[in-house]
Amino acid sequence: DRTSLKVGLIGADIQLSKTPAMHMREGEAHGIDYSYELMDINCRGLSESALPALLDEAEAKGFAGVNITHPFKQLVIPLLNDLSDDARMLGAVNTVVFHDGRRTGHNTDWYGFYESFKRGLPDAKRDRALLIGAGGAGVAVAHAALKLEIARLDIYDQDVKRAEQLADKLNARFGDGRAFAVDAPETSMPHADGLIHATPMGMPAHPGMPVRDDLINPRHWVADIVYMPLVTALLAAAMSKGCQTLPGGGMAVFQAVGAFRLFSGQEPDPVRMSAHFKEL
Ligand code: NAD
Repeated sequence: DRTSLKVGLIGADIQLSKTPAMHMREGEAHGIDYSYELMDINCRGLSESALPALLDEAEAKGFAGVNITHPFKQLVIPLLNDLSDDARMLGAVNTVVFHDGRRTGHNTDWYGFYESFKRGLPDAKRDRALLIGAGGAGVAVAHAALKLEIARLDIYDQDVKRAEQLADKLNARFGDGRAFAVDAPETSMPHADGLIHATPMGMPAHPGMPVRDDLINPRHWVADIVYMPLVTALLAAAMSKGCQTLPGGGMAVFQAVGAFRLFSGQEPDPVRMSAHFKEL
């Protein structure tokens, strides 16, 4: 007998998301009748104020849970009963599980980057790295970077306050001297072993590179979290210099691995999910 599971994704402009296909295919492999519905405020002509109604709708439809994406990862928090330790610490939720009339928020984004990096750049030198972008994703990636034992993380954001606030939070969490806000990429790149990119640059709507090409040296490893396209201008430049690179697809796969586990209670196969992602 096939069990059935309904879940969804709440966000804006999510029609190209590969997450539904990843979940449904993995569900099929587990013998689960798995449906994954997009709840896109742009398609429905709704504003951000629709979030409470969308959560109610998902619950009323009997969903096991929902993924949450831009612009709701922080806004959803007051609408939940509980938070996992990770979600509370990061102040952001990308997965909500419904159970017995309660809603618990989780964060699988940081785990997504953590697993992807461990598998994709296992031998990367970790004395010092530069993170560009301290927004929603940057906060999760920075946490993963320090968990990955990058000894010193420099953080650059065009919004200097954001970089400073993130560095302060990380130093409070992991100990002083682990994170520093920097005023420009060129302050850090000559001293860094690697670069982690976490802004929208490189997507079709935000063309270009987040650092000058001449700052990239063959000794740097370069990790991008943008995954549409998989090879950004930054990764193409880094590859042409012979740098080790990590594309953003792995983070997307492993956040889905974490969410699948929470929704279904079953252990997903990350190799199968990665292979499927590459076909999408
Ligand atoms: P966000 O808008 O919350 O944050 C982006 C941050 O980048 C902001 O703080 C902004 O000030 C900064 N920024 C923008 N352009 C910059 C530049 N040229 N130089 C320095 N700083 C700059 O967005 P987000 O939710 O953090 O997402 C960022 C990107 O990460 C998305 O566009 C998406 O492509 C990607 N992402 C990937 C995954 C994945 O699973 N691979 C998950 C989440 C997000």
